[in-house]
Amino acid sequence: MDINPSRSHLWRTGPGGRGPVVYWMSRDQRVRDNWALLHAFALSVAHRVPLRVVFCLADGFLGAGLRHYAFMLTGLGEVAAGCAARGIRFELLRGDPGEKVAEYCREVDARAVVTDFDPLRVKQEWMRRVVAAVDADLYETDAHNVVPCRVASHKREYGARTLRPRIGRLLPEYLEDFPEVPEHPFAERGPGLELDVSTLLAGRGADSGVPLVTDILPGEQAAGAALREFIEMRLPGYAQGRNDPNAGMVSGLSPYFHFGQLAPQRAVLSVMAARQEVGGENVDAFVEEAVVRRELSDNFCLYCPDYDRFEGLPDWGKRTLAAHAGDRREYTYDRETFARGLTHSGLWNAAQAQLRETGRMHGYMRMYWAKKILEWSPDPRQALETAVWLNDRYALDGRDPNGYVGVLWSVGGLHDRPWTERPVYGQVRYMNERGCRRKFDVEAYIRTWLPPDGPSAGPAPRS
Ligand SMILES: Cc1cc2nc3c(=O)[nH]c(=O)nc-3n(C[C@H](O)[C@H](O)[C@H](O)COP(=O)(O)OP(=O)(O)OC[C@H]3O[C@@H](n4cnc5c(N)ncnc54)[C@H](O)[C@@H]3O)c2cc1C
Repeated sequence: MDINPSRSHLWRTGPGGRGPVVYWMSRDQRVRDNWALLHAFALSVAHRVPLRVVFCLADGFLGAGLRHYAFMLTGLGEVAAGCAARGIRFELLRGDPGEKVAEYCREVDARAVVTDFDPLRVKQEWMRRVVAAVDADLYETDAHNVVPCRVASHKREYGARTLRPRIGRLLPEYLEDFPEVPEHPFAERGPGLELDVSTLLAGRGADSGVPLVTDILPGEQAAGAALREFIEMRLPGYAQGRNDPNAGMVSGLSPYFHFGQLAPQRAVLSVMAARQEVGGENVDAFVEEAVVRRELSDNFCLYCPDYDRFEGLPDWGKRTLAAHAGDRREYTYDRETFARGLTHSGLWNAAQAQLRETGRMHGYMRMYWAKKILEWSPDPRQALETAVWLNDRYALDGRDPNGYVGVLWSVGGLHDRPWTERPVYGQVRYMNERGCRRKFDVEAYIRTWLPPDGPSAGPAPRS
């Protein structure tokens, strides 16, 4: 099994023990199409030892609630079964991953450790602690980006225009098909771990105000089916239709990407294979979003540890927002009012209702939604905190580099340029409801998400 070694970063070397190779699964929660698992598999075969896959369930991960745990744990149930079918033991640990994974690796006398790449502070911090505590080779393998994030660039990129050519040059090397994960030659037999998802969820207590999401199935198989459905039904109109929140032409794949139940590389390979039938402009538009834009978010979070804070904004964005922090706001709301969708704007409340009820919101509405939080918050720092909090709490794909970048783009001009100066926004790009009305049928959108007799109908929208 040949794995391009530049997908992996060797964090430390050590003699290692006599036990299995451990793959500490974290961001990429799937068996197939997973470079980190493939790398760990190849290492374990080379060392003639079994492979263990461990996942550590952290409590209260970045504001995740039952909605997110339910989606994730159901997917992990499928991972456990997929591992067992190949003679690979899957273990679920609970607690602080920085401590528990290190303990586990010592206990089983790990020969070597592999984990998947995640640029978020919390994972990098856990990893540093495991690196310090385990005396074995420890690799971090990028299973999330087509072009590994550390290879694509060694620094924070200015924007899509500087990352795009780098990715374009490297794509032919990295956009290769995945080998299958065969039965392990040093299999560990015995009953596979069956995840009792309902008991695990019951142990997490109630999560008021954030209903479970039932209209999107979790797991690798469901992700594959969603990808096939997108390619067949919506990809042919993607380039034209993706900016209309009523058209439903987007892929809807972000929850699967976020929980690692679908490899973005698999999605890109499948979309590219359909070029003849669906038309080049649709394929190119998808690759721009799923590769360039998505990988730009990982680049930003890796090289800017303030990725979710005011300090992470570009200098011009910080300057212009600070200069307008004292401007009079026509409306101001606290985060509970935003959360309940009780602003004066029917359109905004409808977007928030969609997010609260379904865990999703159309990408165009996400921009509008976050910009209005800037406009209607007492100051830009609070706006940023509110938008991050709402996105992480309600969005199924929240707590993701794309979310932090999306919020900083909307509120503070990250990866954007200065525009004409105006109150509150300063030189940050402005959006208003009139612009939405030019793009799509706003009334239809409001009717869909705020039925007139619904609980959060709020006051009539202003045009
Ligand atoms: C305020 C705000 C918050 C956001 N929060 C999140 C979030 O929490 N999680 C998240 O995954 N995305 C987030 N985005 C980015 C984008 O809106 C979503 O990725 C997209 O709406 C997901 O729907 P889809 O899978 O149908 O996208 P599609 O249009 O089908 O795009 C395919 C894939 O490309 C990637 N992509 C699309 N648009 C962007 C973008 N602007 N930036 C980076 N990658 C992109 C995503 O991985 C997406 O799944 C946010 C954007 C904004 C403005």
